[in-house]
Amino acid sequence: MQRQLKKPAPFAACLLLITGIAATPAAHAEWVTRVTDGIMGTRITVELWADDEAKAQPAIEAVLAEMRHIDESMSTYKPTSEVSQVNAHAAEGPMHISKELFDLLTTARQYSVLTEGAFDITYASVGYLYDFRKRVRPTEAEIDAALPAINYEHVLLDPAAQTVRFSQKGVRIDLGGIAKGYAVDRGIDVLKTFGITRAYVSAGGDSRIIGDRFGKPWIVGVRDPRKGPGEALLRIPLVDAAISTSGDYERFFDEGGVRYHHIIDPHTGHSASKVRSATVIAPTATRTDGLSKTAFVLGPDKAMEIYNRIDDIDAIIVKLDGTVVYSKGMRRAAPADAAPADAAPASPQPAAAPAQPPATNP
Ligand code: ADP
Ligand code: MG
Repeated sequence: MQRQLKKPAPFAACLLLITGIAATPAAHAEWVTRVTDGIMGTRITVELWADDEAKAQPAIEAVLAEMRHIDESMSTYKPTSEVSQVNAHAAEGPMHISKELFDLLTTARQYSVLTEGAFDITYASVGYLYDFRKRVRPTEAEIDAALPAINYEHVLLDPAAQTVRFSQKGVRIDLGGIAKGYAVDRGIDVLKTFGITRAYVSAGGDSRIIGDRFGKPWIVGVRDPRKGPGEALLRIPLVDAAISTSGDYERFFDEGGVRYHHIIDPHTGHSASKVRSATVIAPTATRTDGLSKTAFVLGPDKAMEIYNRIDDIDAIIVKLDGTVVYSKGMRRAAPADAAPADAAPASPQPAAAPAQPPATNP
């Protein structure tokens, strides 16, 4: 008997061992996605590959905490934010500011230079007079009075003292055109500290990707500016890249046949309406966000000239007539027979499915 009992013992022990492993909450790897509304007035999406699902949630929490911090310090909707304090006092004299804000103001200035003044955070000197949700816009007289305060050169930065000063009264800054991209980059940095190597982070129209999807690229959809949010004009395969789309359909109202929307031409104080949408691809989302507004202000030809001049970016512009123009790098990437010439109604990656935001392949 004893011998008979003994015989299956190793097998039973083996079974116990297997059951024991299965009963413990398994550390299994998977894609984890979280969509959060209400930070920076937009939708935040974080999708990542986690070797251990339990580690994914703290990583995502840390990304959202970082974005809340950026919102607290940079929102002009919050009177207590550092940017609101700058707007209230920087015309009085130099103000010491955080290194983070100082560095972003320095970057913003670089984009103003790069875009020949199309990107300009002092747009807000007039921009604050608009409220697109409430269909409020300034009169011509109000615009004329406020317009001289728009000029990025009014923002005086002293790196040694880490201070900012406005050269004149009436200057206001708003980082709405760069802060979301910056927040996405910070989100990616946070994920990297958690050892995440495959992820997608987006804040509204600004997204960045690290890694691939196991041998396949991520697919990000670019919305058709005149169709619904689910309608993709293009589907772009991306690995280790950022992408931003600016559109005149994001925040706007139409009145008397004119579309008033949230991208302001720093030269006129009016909505900049020279294209329907512009998409920029670059290594970081701060960069794509900062550069995606250029085409609205300068128009497709001048903007494409600038985009083509910058080595690490690509761009896709939907012109007012609905045709699409591609930067040099994208034209090289398109298949020869479908290659868009300077302007083409078709796309190198025709839309196959709703794709915004984000369209990620399984
Ligand atoms: P989103 O806010 O959805 O990311 P964009 O990236 O296109 O959209 O940025 C639009 C925002 O940029 C506006 O809401 C405003 O805060 C800011 N902005 C508007 N005009 C300019 C400009 N000429 N230069 C810099 N920022 C601008
Ligand atoms: Mg943006």
